[in-house]
Amino acid sequence: MENTPKSLRKSIALAGKVNAGKSSLLNAIIGQDLAIVSDAPGTTNDAVGKAFELAGLGPVTFYDTAGFEDETSLAPMRIEAAKKTIENADLVLVVVADNKLGLWEEDFIKTIKSPFIIVYSKADIYHHPEGVSTITGQGIEELKNKIVEKLADEKEAKILDGLVNSKDKVLLIAPIDKSAPKGRLILPQVQILRELLDINALPTIVQPEEVKDAVKDTTFSLAITDSRVVKEVAEMLPKKQKLTTFSILFGRLKGDFAEYAKGAAKIDNLKDGDKILIAEACSHTTEEDDIARTILPKLLRAYAKKDLVFNICSGKDFPKDLESYALILHCGSCMLTVKETMVRIEKCKSLNVPITNYGLTISKCQGVFDRVIEPITGKKQ
Ligand code: SF4
Repeated sequence: MENTPKSLRKSIALAGKVNAGKSSLLNAIIGQDLAIVSDAPGTTNDAVGKAFELAGLGPVTFYDTAGFEDETSLAPMRIEAAKKTIENADLVLVVVADNKLGLWEEDFIKTIKSPFIIVYSKADIYHHPEGVSTITGQGIEELKNKIVEKLADEKEAKILDGLVNSKDKVLLIAPIDKSAPKGRLILPQVQILRELLDINALPTIVQPEEVKDAVKDTTFSLAITDSRVVKEVAEMLPKKQKLTTFSILFGRLKGDFAEYAKGAAKIDNLKDGDKILIAEACSHTTEEDDIARTILPKLLRAYAKKDLVFNICSGKDFPKDLESYALILHCGSCMLTVKETMVRIEKCKSLNVPITNYGLTISKCQGVFDRVIEPITGKKQ
């Protein structure tokens, strides 16, 4: 369970005023004494993620956020971090250490965009009939059931939904080059392979050098390639072979495919001096032919024939000054939850800043855009 990537677990944020009993409640839910529990105001420094297997639902991550109304000197940073965690959560537990909602809670609830549950804590002191108590254990199991109910409503999206059926032959193309991690496949490849096995499809996985051999005597329902070799793979495959990329499939799963496809059109209208933000959702060591730092800028400059300025952001940082960018290129988001990615896309949409993803950008610059989106849109371009 601890090995389930964060991006595949539902995230649940505990929010409330200082000393509402969030940390104690988290400990009572997960049954371990791992979060910091103290009566001193504001001992929870940052959002602390705790992986947990919730019976009836599956793997989730609970985040204990810093208490609001915190007057310590670190408060602004901590409050900012708490807000970000709450914004990205699939479910928010609003913890209230009293019998009724106060003004703060009423205002706070208006700002929550995700589903939420109001939890009256300290029922042993305030005797709320539907409250929870971490001292007596009252209401803890019922609260877990409510969490499961709220989150179980959302159907879990599948990467290959509507694209592959049982017994379909699917060709995966995964280059094992300098940028491939030693001794293992990368997360998107593993997840897609697992989904293919789950639906009893017939996957074949090869490196680009073996594509011609693989398609010699076999017809595949779909071929899925790493974006970096999409052009050469497209040339090697028969014209009628359906082809898409790992990155495009993750863009569809994690983001808003229509918005990404729309954003890709901006590539045709870039001007000299336009600023482009490349957003990679995790930090990693940079390679010689790093996709964000080298490949994308090179491809875009060659395709657009413009003098473009590139900025890069990594990990959980996503800049606030998005309006200064002509285009945002987002990675496949394999380490982000759907909610985290959608929060970013919504920000771009609200500011009218086009956003697309790496896979669509590479395919556009390589002249295979129409071919690789056809399996998703179903439209012959
Ligand atoms: S940069 Fe994005 S796509 Fe690449 S591994 Fe990190 S989260 Fe996944």
